[in-house]
Order: sequence, then structure tokens, then C-alpha cells
Amino acid sequence: MAQLPSASPPGKLSSPGQLIVISGPSGAGKSTVVQQLLGDCPLPLSLSVSATTRPARPGEVDGRDYWFLSPDEFALRKEKGDFLECKEVFGRGYWYGTLAETVSTGLNAGKWVILEIDVQGAASVLEVYPNAITVFIHPGSLAELERRLRHRGTESEASILRRLEVASEELAMKHRYRHEVVNREIEQAVDELCSLLQTYE
Ligand code: 5GP
Repeated sequence: MAQLPSASPPGKLSSPGQLIVISGPSGAGKSTVVQQLLGDCPLPLSLSVSATTRPARPGEVDGRDYWFLSPDEFALRKEKGDFLECKEVFGRGYWYGTLAETVSTGLNAGKWVILEIDVQGAASVLEVYPNAITVFIHPGSLAELERRLRHRGTESEASILRRLEVASEELAMKHRYRHEVVNREIEQAVDELCSLLQTYE
């Protein structure tokens, strides 16, 4: 079984790889865009696997989608300084964190490491890696996001409303990102994202 990275070397400010930080409201199709990007874009991309205390959803695999940790394990890692950043996302009591070692190892190996994290996490990462390429992916409007969340049918009404509230706060932060990709159509969003990343080669 894959091993959760444990060491926590200091963050490097310059390295052979590139750091890409992708944020955007839940339901914007970020994960789908990123998964397709990994397959289609001819850059040495590598997706950083975050740790979380939220339970795995059906089909999610430990070490592939997330490192699923108990609250105690997560707190221990936090205490040890293993996280480049960690946040309680959505105010639901679940923690999410980027492992510093995953990022530095990838960058030192010349990878273009992708972090798919929330806007608060992105702000913390930029303090350590100010040259990170930041991309905000969103569905165009709150109305479109609401339509998608309802269509997905996986969320309760309360969860939809909470996600829309968070999304509206997140959308207000999009100017903090260097790039913006509107995900109207998946192929097009992936092409656009790949092309803009290639400008950094
Ligand atoms: P989900 O539970 O749907 O997988 O993710 C919920 C939110 O957590 C998403 O907005 C995602 O970008 C964010 N997230 C995932 N991993 C991390 C992380 O390591 N750090 C932070 N700050 N946010 C994360």
C-alpha cells in the first residue's frame, strides 16, 4: 500500500518544477478539469494528494483521492508541521491539508505540481511559494453553479445553500488569481488551461 509522506522539509522558494494552485467553487467541475488535464496536457504534471478528515465517498481510494486521516492523526501531523497549509473547509468540521513533502519532492523532481485547494489554502501557499501559477476555475455565474449542484443531486438543500454561500465568497476572491478559466464546456476548459500553463515553459 502507498505510504503517507511523513517528513517535513522546509518549503523551497525556487526549484526545477512549477507549482500550480487551482481553486474554484465546489460544483465548478475543477476535479474533472484537473483529471482530464493530467491525461491530455503534455507537461510533467503531478497532482498533490491532500490529507483530509472527511470520510471517503464511495469509490474514493486512500492515497489516490486523499489521504483519509482520523481527526487525531490529522492533528498530530499538524502539530509536527507536516502541512504546507491546512484549513477547515466549508465550516463542516472537516480538515484538509497539503503535505509539504509531497510538494517539495515533486518540485525537486522537476514536476509541475498541482494543488486543488480552497481560496484560504491558496493564500497560505502563496506566502511560501509566491511564484506559484494560480488559476481560478468557475462556472461563469452563481445561477449556473446552482443549476449544476441541483442537477448533480448529491447534496441536501442545506448543503446546496451552504455551498452557494461559500461559492459567492470564493467568487469574490477570483481577482487574487493570475488566471481565470470559465468551465462552460470541459474540453474547452482543459485546452485553455493547458495552453495557459504552456506559456510558463
Ligand atoms: P471535497 O470534500 O469536495 O473533496 O473538497 C472540498 C473542498 O476542499 C474543495 O474546495 C477543495 O478544493 C478543498 N481542498 C481539498 N484539498 C485541500 C487542501 O489540501 N487544502 C485546502 N485548503 N483545501 C483543500
